[in-house]
Formats: sequence, C-alpha cells, structure tokens
Amino acid sequence: MTTVLESSIALEKTPLERYVPPAKPSLVGLSRAALAQALGAIGIAPSQQKMRVQQIWHWLYVRGAKDFDQMSSVSKEVRAILDTHYTLARPEVVAEQVSVDGTRKWLLRLPGEVAGERPHEVECVYIPETDRGTLCLSSQVGCTLTCTFCHTGTQRLVRNLTPGEIVGQIMVARDRLGDFLGAERVTGPGLPTEGDRFISNIVMMGMGEPLYNFEAVRDALLVVADGDGLSISKRRITLSTSGVVPNISRAGEEIGTMLAVSLHAVRDELRNELVPLNRKYPIKVLLDACRNYPGVSNAKRITFEYVMLKGVNDSLEDAKALVRLLKGIPAKINLIPFNPWPGSKYECSDWDQIEKFSEIVFNAGYASPVRTPRGRDILAACGQLKSATEKLSARERMALRAMAMTD
Ligand code: SAH
Ligand code: SF4
Repeated sequence: MTTVLESSIALEKTPLERYVPPAKPSLVGLSRAALAQALGAIGIAPSQQKMRVQQIWHWLYVRGAKDFDQMSSVSKEVRAILDTHYTLARPEVVAEQVSVDGTRKWLLRLPGEVAGERPHEVECVYIPETDRGTLCLSSQVGCTLTCTFCHTGTQRLVRNLTPGEIVGQIMVARDRLGDFLGAERVTGPGLPTEGDRFISNIVMMGMGEPLYNFEAVRDALLVVADGDGLSISKRRITLSTSGVVPNISRAGEEIGTMLAVSLHAVRDELRNELVPLNRKYPIKVLLDACRNYPGVSNAKRITFEYVMLKGVNDSLEDAKALVRLLKGIPAKINLIPFNPWPGSKYECSDWDQIEKFSEIVFNAGYASPVRTPRGRDILAACGQLKSATEKLSARERMALRAMAMTD
C-alpha cells in the first residue's frame, strides 16, 4: 500500500527548458520527409526533392560530410543555397576521455533555451568488444524520473533532446573514430584494427528516459535504422525503459527496436523504492505490457536489467522469484553490477553473490553473462553519467574516481 509520504513525492519532473532552434538549423536527424520539406522551404522544386534528399542522405550518413562543399554530386548552385540556410552541425564535443579498456566517452555541449547562455551537457559512451562495438546514447538532459540508485535520477530534468541531437551523438562518435566510408580509422587499445564498422550496436541507455521523449527518440531511431544511411538494423538497437507502460506498445509499433526493461526488483514494495515510477505502473502491469510487446518472440527477446545491490535485491530467493516472475515471457536477463557514485546509498553486491545469483538465472535457461563494468576509470559505466549542468565538485570527482579504481 502506498503511504501518504510516498504518494507526496513527485514521480515525474517537468522540463525546465524547451529547445529553441538556431537561425541556421542543422539537417542532421531530419527524417526523409522533413528533409524534403526543408529543401522545399528554400525553393528546391518538388520534382528534384527526392533525388536531392537521396544525395544529401548519402553524403551525410554514409560519408559523414561536415559541410555542403564536400557533396560533389550536388550542383554548386544547390550547395550554395543549402549553405545559406542550413548546416550539417553535430553537437559540440567538449571533452573526450579514453579508458584503459578502450571505452571512450564524449562530453557534448548542447544549446540552452537562450542563445549563448547556460548551455547544457550530455554524455555519450562507446564500448568496443571483440564481437561488436556499442554506442550508448542519451535521450534527455537529466531525467524525468528519480530512480534512487541512479546518478542521473538525482539531476533536474533540463530538457528533452531533439532527433538531431540524438542522431548527432552517433555522428560525433563516427567522426571521432573515423567510422565513415573513406575516413581514416582511429587506432588504439581495445579497438578493432580491420573489418567491420566500429559502431555496430546502439543502446538508449545513457542519460534520460527515452519513452518520456517518445517522438524525438522514435524519429531519431528511424533515421539510424535507415538502410541507405547509418544503417544500423533495428535488431541491433536496444531501447531501455524504466517502465513507461503506455509507451511500450507504441515503441513496438512505431519504432520496432529491441526492448530492455529496468526491472531491478521482484516485489512492488522494493521496486516502488528503487524505481518510484513503479507506483504508477506496478510490476504486473509492466510485465503484461512486455508480454504484449509487438514482435516479441524467442528470436526477439526482451532484456530485463537487474542492478545488483548488496543486501537489497540480491538474495538467492530474489533470483528464484525473478525466474518465476518472467516465466512465459521471451526474456534475457542482464545482471548489472551497481556502479557507485558520490552520495549513493547503495553498495554493489559481492562478486561471490552475483555469481550465485547468476547461476540460478543461468540454470533456468536465461543466458546471463555478467558483463564486467566498462570504462569505470572515466566514469562511463551505467548510471554514472551526469551532465555538468550540475557539476560534481572536485572532491566528489576524486571520491568517485577512487571508488572506480578500488571496485
Ligand atoms: N532510463 C532508462 C535508460 C537509461 S539507464 C532506464 O532506466 O532503463 C540504463 C540502465 O542503467 C538502466 O537499467 C538503469 O537502471 C541502470 N543504472 C542506473 N544507474 C545505475 C548504477 N548506478 N549502476 C548500475 N546500473 C545503473
Ligand atoms: Fe532515469 Fe533510467 Fe536513471 Fe531511472 S535509471 S533515473 S529512468 S536514467
């Protein structure tokens, strides 16, 4: 039962700001239809629009063009008109950090509501592995929600990202890695030296709750999945939600990517505390939405994320209850060792306990590799992201770094 105190705590924050486009907007992230419209607005004849869209799409998303002059198949005259009205700008990179394990994190600056004043920052993380390269994207500056184990949850919700800012994170990462056709590939520890693209997978697991920025996330991911452009298939894109139930089926219908659900607890009482949104959409309602996720099947399983919190949700009884709870849902379970941050009131479960928990889950048929946290030395692991709009003090940063080193 919800207590008076609990129900008085706000579940959702409202954005403090809205996005105001610059006088000369970027074409990055526009859908093909919106791009055609943008061309129409500067006098490009309807009969030419489809062809121009195709050309720009190729130069931008396959070759990574940063200015219109590179688009040699587009006439000089059209390039000049485009350049007068638009840019191909991506978010500005403020800092790049490279972890000893090859993980890379970019701090990106985004404009504030008032031009030139109070810009905002989000982070985007690249994780190279032997069989894939995953880019973790942010969807909001801050987060609508308030999960108690998550650093981003302590931050205010400043604003939603635009599709251009979401797609722009991939553009930045591919720019920095040399991951566009014809670009010089970056070399370094952990990076593949030959073969496929560096970025093969996308996860919406950075800052923010993607299903509270539904339209922008949808539009961005449809651009990302376009086979003539960035071309990352929907099977390789995973959208993670803390459980915004009404938008789960919408995501299946309108986006169609893989789904991950941040479950973290098997009882409502505990989940109410860890993921306060559970008070609005409790476990049963959430799991029903998962059962009905459009396209769900054994070949397209839902990933359930479960953060391992010492003495909170990590008992072997919890593991057994988790297996029972997910019965009948085509599922994978992803156990995430808790990543601490300054002021966090939880500790990561002991490794021994994580292994025992994982064994129960594994024996029940849920392949559950516990991935070693990546990029902890650069604060790039799950839940450690927090934008500099609420900067950590130097002391907090040092404490956090020390924690990352000793874990
Ligand atoms: N808002 C979405 C996606 C971003 S969070 C969501 O909540 O699903 C990505 C994953 O990191 C989620 O499963 C989240 O619960 C988990 N996470 C958040 N803080 C964490 C922390 N400190 N340690 C480990 N995982 C954390
Ligand atoms: Fe937001 Fe996800 Fe963090 Fe919860 S876990 S506060 S939904 S980013």
